[in-house]
Amino acid sequence: MARGSREENIRQIIDMEDRIARCGRCKSLIKCVRKPSLGKGELDPDLMMIFEYDNHFTRDVNNLIVLRNMVKKELNLDKIYHTFITRCQPKACVTRNSMSCYTDTRLLDKDNHCLLNGRDCEGIPVRPADEEIIACLPFLLEEIAILNPAYILLFGSRVAEYMLKSWGIFDTEEDRTVYMINDTRIILAPDGEQFTDGYCQRISQQIRNFTSL
Ligand code: SF4
Repeated sequence: MARGSREENIRQIIDMEDRIARCGRCKSLIKCVRKPSLGKGELDPDLMMIFEYDNHFTRDVNNLIVLRNMVKKELNLDKIYHTFITRCQPKACVTRNSMSCYTDTRLLDKDNHCLLNGRDCEGIPVRPADEEIIACLPFLLEEIAILNPAYILLFGSRVAEYMLKSWGIFDTEEDRTVYMINDTRIILAPDGEQFTDGYCQRISQQIRNFTSL
């Protein structure tokens, strides 16, 4: 698919983000989410980084800067964008669970205070359930279709599993980290915390091997 102009990409991304902000597919998640996590970065990217959800690692901008710099240096790319397979952060919450709360109403105010007890949200971030990933996946596929990057870097085994299956790849080879879907190179990586210079050099070498086949 041809890459759209940056202006056209911006228009389509804004439209998609508007729908994400109004999305209510995961009733149990949206009660305790102030706003969904959206993609950030260059809107005509060379490479898109995809994380499972917005967690303590991705919320620290310094972690993202380190990752971006590693990728830029080793893969010799410039424009990078990052996004998530699940937009709303699931939380375990004793307060919510201990109260009979038969409502779909959002329970956080604009200052992240819980409407049930007036305190700062005390929910503990947890990984998304399979059904939450599947519910949110169409937004990510739409985002990829709009931005159409030459490289997609999948962080973590769950992201790899869901994305490869969504592209029709069900049989994966052990130790293989690079796949080709249409004109896009798909790169498998460990979770962001485990992504090192050494790993980045390895995938850079595998991409070169792959390209020369
Ligand atoms: S996680 Fe995704 S699909 Fe579920 S409510 Fe949030 S935006 Fe919608």
